[in-house]
Amino acid sequence: MNFFQHPGFWLNWYYPGALFRLPDSKRKRLVLTFDDGPQPGVTDRVLDILKEEQIQAIFFCLGRQVKAYPELFARIQREGHWVGNHSFSHLNGLNTALGEYIDDVSEASNWISSPFFRPPYGKMKRSQFFKLKKSYQVMLWDVLAVDYEPNRSPEQCVDTVLKYSRNGSVIVFHDSLKAADRVLGALKPSIKALKSKGFEFCLPPIPH
Ligand SMILES: [Zn+2]
Repeated sequence: MNFFQHPGFWLNWYYPGALFRLPDSKRKRLVLTFDDGPQPGVTDRVLDILKEEQIQAIFFCLGRQVKAYPELFARIQREGHWVGNHSFSHLNGLNTALGEYIDDVSEASNWISSPFFRPPYGKMKRSQFFKLKKSYQVMLWDVLAVDYEPNRSPEQCVDTVLKYSRNGSVIVFHDSLKAADRVLGALKPSIKALKSKGFEFCLPPIPH
């Protein structure tokens, strides 16, 4: 368990204007997001589950994955989901110079047209943040399913999601090979349990 699973107020201060949670916290609404795809064998099955549950989500895609799997990327959008820029090659901003980082996001924007950006690992330097904030709504999260940890079970991921989800939460899963067993095992039970607690799923306000 670490604080990136459930970021505290200090991150709001560090990244002012980033979206961690929906602004209207009175309503029982959640946003589902998926990072690191599109990935054949994972994203397509996630899309099937979302269709069965009639939920729209945001897919924070990697430019390199979109370049490799354009048809799966097209399917995401055709089925009414939104896409976000998650950079081209998943650089860690903290180890990357400003220019190189911005170039990587810009390269991804040739493949992904979106007003939303989510930094890989949820981390970037403030200089990178302030530069990207001019062009994007930076979207972080309130709840991390930790589905990329190979020693966890799908049930543990469901428990994490249920434990931390609250009104307005932005929840992150991963449609990646690394997370496949857990996201595909945990997604449907998580959605069912959250629905039974009275939560609805929605998309965030469009940034202006
Ligand atoms: Zn990522």
